[in-house]
Amino acid sequence: MTSYPMSPLMGQMMDQPLLISSIIEFAARHYGSTEIVSRRVEGDLHRYTYRDCHQRARQMANALTGLGVKLGDRVATLAWNGYRHMELYYAVSGSGAVLHTINPRLHPEQIAYITNHAEDQYLYFDLTFLPLIEAVAAHCTTVKAFILMAGREHMPAETKIPQLLCYEDLISSSSDDYQWPLFDENSAASLCYTSGTTGNPKGALYSHRSTVLHAYGSAMPNALNVSSADTVLPVVPMFHVNAWGLPYSVLLSGAKMVYPGAALDGKSLYELFEAEKVTFSAGVPTVWLGLINHALQNQLQFSTFRRTVIGGSACPPAMMDTLIDKFNVEVIHAWGMTEMSPLGTAGGLQTKHLVLPKDAQRKILQKQGHAVYGVDMKIVDDAGTELPWDGSTYGHLLVKGPWIIKSYFKNEGGDVLQDGWFPTGDVATIDADGYMQITDRSKDVIKSGGEWIGTIDLENIAMSHPSVLQAACIGIAHPKWDERPLLLVVKRPGMEVTREEMLAFFEGKIAKFWMPDDVVFIDALPMGATGKIQKNKLRDQFKAHQLPVG
Ligand code: AMP
Repeated sequence: MTSYPMSPLMGQMMDQPLLISSIIEFAARHYGSTEIVSRRVEGDLHRYTYRDCHQRARQMANALTGLGVKLGDRVATLAWNGYRHMELYYAVSGSGAVLHTINPRLHPEQIAYITNHAEDQYLYFDLTFLPLIEAVAAHCTTVKAFILMAGREHMPAETKIPQLLCYEDLISSSSDDYQWPLFDENSAASLCYTSGTTGNPKGALYSHRSTVLHAYGSAMPNALNVSSADTVLPVVPMFHVNAWGLPYSVLLSGAKMVYPGAALDGKSLYELFEAEKVTFSAGVPTVWLGLINHALQNQLQFSTFRRTVIGGSACPPAMMDTLIDKFNVEVIHAWGMTEMSPLGTAGGLQTKHLVLPKDAQRKILQKQGHAVYGVDMKIVDDAGTELPWDGSTYGHLLVKGPWIIKSYFKNEGGDVLQDGWFPTGDVATIDADGYMQITDRSKDVIKSGGEWIGTIDLENIAMSHPSVLQAACIGIAHPKWDERPLLLVVKRPGMEVTREEMLAFFEGKIAKFWMPDDVVFIDALPMGATGKIQKNKLRDQFKAHQLPVG
């Protein structure tokens, strides 16, 4: 920990560490009757209040003490978005242990790897993942017991899992007489491994302080803008970067919470949005694709849904247009990463932009957004020299702030900072008003004749074609230019478009040398564990593709 000089005159404010337990205490005391509604994997809807949640979190904290869990011990979850998962967010971190959220979409070998790497003592899991746990349990060498997040009636009669406990039994056999302990706010609170397309996943180890500051910062009007008048449905999973901090920021804002469980298809989401009068949501573009298609196909409108945050990968402008113009839903384009807790930037207009025509405003909103207070950013060239904020010069994006990692868990990867800044691996521009726009992941950028071609722009244009559902652009080795762009397109069901029509669609919209050399139509794009297109897989699949000679 860096120590800073002390002033001869110190402030005279209360000395209260920023701890996660203070969030649930506040929510239960000041918004005690506010509801948490969860679609359970068992099939039904569960509803209770912040007050109930706080009580059960305290019971679970007592149960953890009974299980011998101590300050700093890691406790894992493999679970969907739901009330039991949220109880663990508070019971585990609040009691001083470290909540390790595992992404169930990872390969079972990776799940065993990160469980062992984290040295998880206990692993809580949803009923859906019983077969997965049965397959990996023997390989998770540090786990003392696995806990099924369900009632006794769902416990399997026979199982290969050596030590299996029942969540509801643990709760019902534990008292709610529990005082959240006080400890140093820099203590570890939760752990999330990056999806890592190459090599083993690395852990981002968040502290109580970083989590509370991120919760404050991300709830602000220029960020996610959550208030007690909202009903929030986080589609973004609690197993990936703490659902963008919503299980914290929603509670300190006093908003009603709605958890979708495992039912993330367009129809189930639409029904839950309507039934629970959801006003605000957050998720990756692929989820919105399902929801929008369901609403369009069935000519449905949203009666209360007014605002959504889209991030995790670039929000296609066509998706933004549909949500705003057809459904009257405001879109906040946001950017961040696991290493940043995750929020870095969020979209929105400034006073001077309000007089601009709609198209000009839309161009601003399409960017990944403006830095949220708590995050500083800069773009640099290959030599590390800072580049101008002119909206067109692009460079490597670096960030710093109190909710950004300084190293990975167990120091994997060694020193990661460059002069105190974290290199994001993204390539971006920043304009004079401070809006950042990602052109690419640095490893996805196409290098053609010494120039860079940003694939996100090309994909966004392709996806504004009415026959295109999804598009991905990758670099293909080229004898003269190094690499040239190949466009891969998934057509909308029942729609047609030819290679030539697709290429003609780009005419006049991009510099000539950005024009894809070829278009290939495919049935589906490979998606990774966190809803991102796996371009490394596409590059592998198409590495022998012959580009037309031209
Ligand atoms: P992860 O740590 O798995 O959440 O991935 C973080 C990465 O996702 C970032 O470094 C970006 O490459 C990408 N990403 C996140 N949000 C956006 C966005 N709004 N637009 C483009 N890329 C994004």
